[in-house]
Amino acid sequence: MALHNWPFLGRSQPPAVTGGSGSYLIQADGSKILDAAGGAIVVNIGHGRVEVAEAVAKATRNGGYVVPTWMTPEREALVEELTNHWLPSHLSRIHLTSGGSEANEAAMKIAVQYFAAKGQPNKSRIISRSLSYHGTTITTAGVSGHASRKRGLEAILDQYPSIETPYPLRCPLGQHHPDAADYYIDNLKAVIDAEGPENIAALIAEPLNGSSGGAITPPENYWPRVSQILKENDILLIIDEVMTGFGRTGRRFGIDHWEVVPDIMVGGKGLSGGYAPLGGVFTTDEVVAPIAARGEGLMFFTYSAHSAACAAGVAALNILEDEDLVVASATKGADLFERLRRLEGHQAVREVRGLGLMIGIELVADMSGDLDGPGERPGAKVVAEALRRGVWVYPAGDGNVPDALLVGPPFTITDVEMHRLTRVVAESISAVYGD
Ligand code: PLP
Repeated sequence: MALHNWPFLGRSQPPAVTGGSGSYLIQADGSKILDAAGGAIVVNIGHGRVEVAEAVAKATRNGGYVVPTWMTPEREALVEELTNHWLPSHLSRIHLTSGGSEANEAAMKIAVQYFAAKGQPNKSRIISRSLSYHGTTITTAGVSGHASRKRGLEAILDQYPSIETPYPLRCPLGQHHPDAADYYIDNLKAVIDAEGPENIAALIAEPLNGSSGGAITPPENYWPRVSQILKENDILLIIDEVMTGFGRTGRRFGIDHWEVVPDIMVGGKGLSGGYAPLGGVFTTDEVVAPIAARGEGLMFFTYSAHSAACAAGVAALNILEDEDLVVASATKGADLFERLRRLEGHQAVREVRGLGLMIGIELVADMSGDLDGPGERPGAKVVAEALRRGVWVYPAGDGNVPDALLVGPPFTITDVEMHRLTRVVAESISAVYGD
């Protein structure tokens, strides 16, 4: 990475955006970028929504900072909205943060505190998955299976027991093997046995894998079986819905596709649609009760549950409901998937996959057509080609295999925009790999 790209604002020269409207980012010279990744798969209600701006302005006029443990009308409204319209009824305990990493930290703390409070302090290990991303703090980076985002930090990142991310395309039994779920379940059981269930607090996992692999979707019966095994071993399930939550996959939450109910669920990104830094941890009375009984709390971050962020959250969630955008994510997602799937005809495209408006396009590892080698990682070049043509798609992959693109536009995307997005992605792949 060239020095001028090192990410400190003021010293770098990234694309400069001065505004946004609908599916577009607008640059100083008036040119528009079709935001086909909603930034970092965040923007679900589109850019420039006046209702959100007004809600944030009103909250700011109402007052400034209030410690996170006190109530404000905006906090109350968000808790009510989440409870009444979004969260499964058993997830009645809500802890708000400023983003996904903080929320995952809190989720893991809660899991460990829960067992400690029940007199099982050794039940403290967190199992994670080989390809995964849960955040950028030292603990969430440590638990993540994302090599390139850990580079240079290995010395201070803890090792966590890891299971294989279910990956039908690359299942060791064979591509999309009918017994793929068995394979990955056996791997989970083996890791639980090796670690000892008496030492394990939780499994943390994305329902379908986001930036580390590009919408890798597990075999059909994977999640219900995982849930069952965790229950049998008294291990909590932390589902990280930071990317998949609030409609991104065409259901309220990604895990809803499998009708599994986690003990702890984590949200971020789409919770505020990108209008304010906001994340949340949602859990049950049963998990919280022993911790509370011991008089222990969960320390807040100074900006946790900031009222202006809560106001943005309520306004964004209201728009999702009023405009039926979760259904739109499902129907437009199915449409966009069919268009993008035609790219599988190109020699460079190994697989198009995903759910709703979270679609991954796995590319072959290098331009000579090597499917599994370390390759030249042409994905970044495809992203750059698409941006040159005015379309932003998100680079995915953990720095090794796979190399992929992630497409995740606002749920308000139009037919014409989907058409353009598909055309530009196809052109960009051809520009990098040839036709
Ligand atoms: N979890 C998942 C699944 C994510 O995709 C991300 C961000 O990309 C995070 C956690 C971290 O969230 P944040 O960047 O808001 O801290």
